[in-house]
Amino acid sequence: MKIIVLPGDGIGPETMATTVEVLEAVSRRFDLGLELIHDIAGHESLKRHGSTVTPALLEKVRAADGLMLGPMATYDFKDEARGEINPSKFFRKSLDLYANIRPARTYPGMPARLGEFDLVVVRENTEGFYADRNIESGSSEMLITPDVVISLRRITRLCCERIARSAFELAMTRDKHVSIVHKANVLKIADGMFIDICHEVGQEFREVRVDDFIVDAMMAHVVRAPQRFDVIVTTNMFGDILSDLTAELSGSLGLGGSLNAGSEHAMGQAAHGSAPDIAGQNIANPFSLILSAGMLLGWYGQRKGLQSFLDANAAIEKTAAAAVAAHEATRDVGGTLGTRETGAAFVARLLSA
Ligand code: NAD
Repeated sequence: MKIIVLPGDGIGPETMATTVEVLEAVSRRFDLGLELIHDIAGHESLKRHGSTVTPALLEKVRAADGLMLGPMATYDFKDEARGEINPSKFFRKSLDLYANIRPARTYPGMPARLGEFDLVVVRENTEGFYADRNIESGSSEMLITPDVVISLRRITRLCCERIARSAFELAMTRDKHVSIVHKANVLKIADGMFIDICHEVGQEFREVRVDDFIVDAMMAHVVRAPQRFDVIVTTNMFGDILSDLTAELSGSLGLGGSLNAGSEHAMGQAAHGSAPDIAGQNIANPFSLILSAGMLLGWYGQRKGLQSFLDANAAIEKTAAAAVAAHEATRDVGGTLGTRETGAAFVARLLSA
């Protein structure tokens, strides 16, 4: 499996360096034959190539079997005409990575303030309120006068159907429960359609229990009793916000692994951003990116029918759980180690299992 590795900005280089060590170790242990191809995106690429991402890089990614994208300083990238392209958007849109899968679970050994839970947010990734990806060319956010802005939201049957199917298929491998999160009391037409399509797709999965929640109320429900939920399916922006909340409720945003998957390509990417407040201090939690790398291996294993890749993902998840329980982790999850030391301990544990 060929994986393009792009470290990114802020805490990206340090967390990706650790993730690369884990990928190399898991490749040795499970004989995966991983080939890691290192390249750049974000500020480093802007400096060197005049653009945060390039068409040549996209071609390399298309030709590879997967992509590991480090956190990006997307807020810094404001003007596409000056090469400041949001790399997340670039890959999600160009590769049609429509399903953003964001698991959140508690771990033994860490205080679970809200009780134990294990859920997955399945977020639509290619339309919704995201002005940089919901139209073919340009942006759907418009400055009408200096004091008036219009931002358009796009919801389509195709995108609703495919994200609903991802959610129900995932639920069939878990507790067979899908919760639809929406704002159909206000966005009556678009979110009304989203709910209807989720239920339509749900008809194909009769064993799966379905319920739905208005997004604002969902914030209260998930904080009150996260164990009520199994798979949560929602549109782009609601999923982005909700999944940061669920990651933090699980103990830390630094545990938020995620996969962006389409029908042909996939990208592992931590749920969080470049965390400039802690960058370069060797304190960032690398587990989010390590777990994302595991998910990418799992995606490939499922696609190609390769058990060794599924085993590698399971071993990464198991090692993360054991490391958290043993406090062999960064301080945000109750450990005392730095990013590098957390990675070294992770590799030792992975190889000794
Ligand atoms: P952030 O997600 O980077 O950080 C939020 C908080 O969580 C910070 O206190 C940070 O220190 C902490 N945190 C994040 N990751 C952590 C980790 N691995 N270990 C320990 N603590 C961690 O959000 P922000 O500071 O608002 O955004 C910073 C930049 O990241 C902005 O440019 C934003 O646009 C960008 N961003 C990018 C992505 C992405 O690449 N997918 C996602 C979100 C934000």
